[in-house]
Amino acid sequence: IVHWPFSATQRRRLNWVQLAGHKGNFKAADEGTILKKFSENEVQCFEKLQDDALRPFVPGYHGVVEKDGESFLHMTDLLTNFDLPNVMDCKMGVRTYLEEELVRARERPKQREDLYKKMVEVDSEGPTPQEHAQRGVTKPRYMQWRETMSSTNTLGFRIEGIKKDDGTCRTDFKKTRSKQDVIQVFKDFVEGNVTIITSYLSRLTEIRQALKTSEFFKRHEVIGSSLLFIHDHKGSAQVWIIDFGKTTVLPEGQTLNHDIPWQEGNREDGYLWGLENLIHTLESVSSE
Ligand code: ATP
Ligand code: MG
Ligand code: MG
Repeated sequence: IVHWPFSATQRRRLNWVQLAGHKGNFKAADEGTILKKFSENEVQCFEKLQDDALRPFVPGYHGVVEKDGESFLHMTDLLTNFDLPNVMDCKMGVRTYLEEELVRARERPKQREDLYKKMVEVDSEGPTPQEHAQRGVTKPRYMQWRETMSSTNTLGFRIEGIKKDDGTCRTDFKKTRSKQDVIQVFKDFVEGNVTIITSYLSRLTEIRQALKTSEFFKRHEVIGSSLLFIHDHKGSAQVWIIDFGKTTVLPEGQTLNHDIPWQEGNREDGYLWGLENLIHTLESVSSE
């Protein structure tokens, strides 16, 4: 039981919210920091980001730590300085799987009933007549279909989840696809507060600028990474780049544009194109 007045630690635990990933992947840590389940890939990214133009826009990195026999990535808790934060996780890019995942999924293209059921749950008209008949879809088919349901393919980003300061939490955005729908979600998120939108827009503009000069960004396929939007009733509003679990370095000498269409083999992620669309969407929120 937590008694009033809350200690800083208690407040933090009550405030903490996780909008994606498995619940067991995160643990509380020392004041103002959290632990995320270790992945070699993500740690490599954080190490490289320490002397990159993107450093001011990613959570502070405090190395790898062991706890209860498990390894964790130790990072700054971005929610710490907010009073009852509103949080949105926006997953960037025109696809959320790696090319190599697609290749692997094709190796044994068996009809899967679990994926068929997941598809039907989102859209009963998703499966083709043949897929309905066999009650199965292959994994690559499912992966590519999923991206057409949300705004991932059409806008280059999608909303994963939102937690508001009234305690409500939504992660049911799998079919939020049109720009109009996304505008509506953002309006509701900021409750029509144009000042917050303006702060978000200026932060996104800084991020875009940093991405354009970042060596790290040039040399990585950035998949499944999110922009985390945070604001509170006092008017603080920030955006951070999080989740490098699937961000993969390119072969020596190769770089990406991040704003040209993906064709299998070119590894383009559409990140900058998505950011451009996100900025336009927020501009519409504040002008409508
Ligand atoms: P997935 O790959 O399914 O997106 P994941 O296990 O890689 O999940 P993240 O996406 O990194 O985990 O984080 C999940 C959620 O945890 C985010 O949506 C956000 O709500 C919260 N979160 C992550 N990192 C931080 C941070 N540094 N500070 C505050 N909240 C965070
Ligand atoms: Mg994530
Ligand atoms: Mg992840």
